Amino acid sequence: MTQQVATQTVTRTRGVERVLGGQFVMDGAGVKINRVLTQPLQRRLDPFLMLDAFGSDKAGDYIAGFPEHPHRGFETVTYMLTGRMRHRDSAGNEGLVTNGGVQWMTAGRGVIHSEMPEQEEGLMEGFQLWLNLPAKDKMSAPWYRDIPNEEVPRFALPSGATVQVIAGSSHGVAGAVQRDGTEPLYLDIDLPEGATFEQPLPAGHNAFLYVFRGEAVVEGKGVPQARMAILDNAQGADGVRIKAATATRLLLIAGRPLNEPIAQYGPFVMNTQAEVFQAVEDFRAGRFAAA
Ligand code: FE
Repeated sequence: MTQQVATQTVTRTRGVERVLGGQFVMDGAGVKINRVLTQPLQRRLDPFLMLDAFGSDKAGDYIAGFPEHPHRGFETVTYMLTGRMRHRDSAGNEGLVTNGGVQWMTAGRGVIHSEMPEQEEGLMEGFQLWLNLPAKDKMSAPWYRDIPNEEVPRFALPSGATVQVIAGSSHGVAGAVQRDGTEPLYLDIDLPEGATFEQPLPAGHNAFLYVFRGEAVVEGKGVPQARMAILDNAQGADGVRIKAATATRLLLIAGRPLNEPIAQYGPFVMNTQAEVFQAVEDFRAGRFAAA
């Protein structure tokens, strides 16, 4: 889906507050992951709770997958660059997220699902983002959508930039998913060497980028491959200007902070400890399966 563009410019860019490398973790039944957005950053990057990057051509790093497990209180967004992952959940949904496809799942009051590789060799590369839900929506009905790559809206600019708009909107192109409340922007930006890309951002929104090919430069600061840059919320900045030092591909993610308490225990993210205990109890009592 290539769309008509209304070019947007930025007068004053945000800068880079911090560059971070993430943390290697094992999750699921033994999947090797780079946790780019870790728990200590949840407050700073509100409404985002987690960003995992996975990428390996060694089956042993991913083959165990993520067998049945629960979620409550937030949304998961899986973006599969390369590979095949089968999803099944307790709400009766099933889908295959594959080569460039996105899966958006709102866990709401509770989902039990599995995410299992449907390949025994070759490269599997992608991302999973956790987006918080406002308190008023944490116990909403689960929701789910598979968006194959050809249905992700995209556009190209004269600079050579090509952009896929997973959520929010960019240069007049509306993304695959829109959300009130958190107003997430989720872009996959591909830049040839030397190209510049500008994206307006509301001043109060928290924003970060993750470079997965090449090296990006923001206000003179380099962000190398496999690094995340938290963008500052400088007063007077109206967006971000990103330059590619070499051929570069990155995610740009931004959203409106909820400014609500965050209580997390593993796959349950609520506002209070009592709500988290309730989630554990509901899961143990089998009340998620009927969600
Ligand atoms: Fe999951």
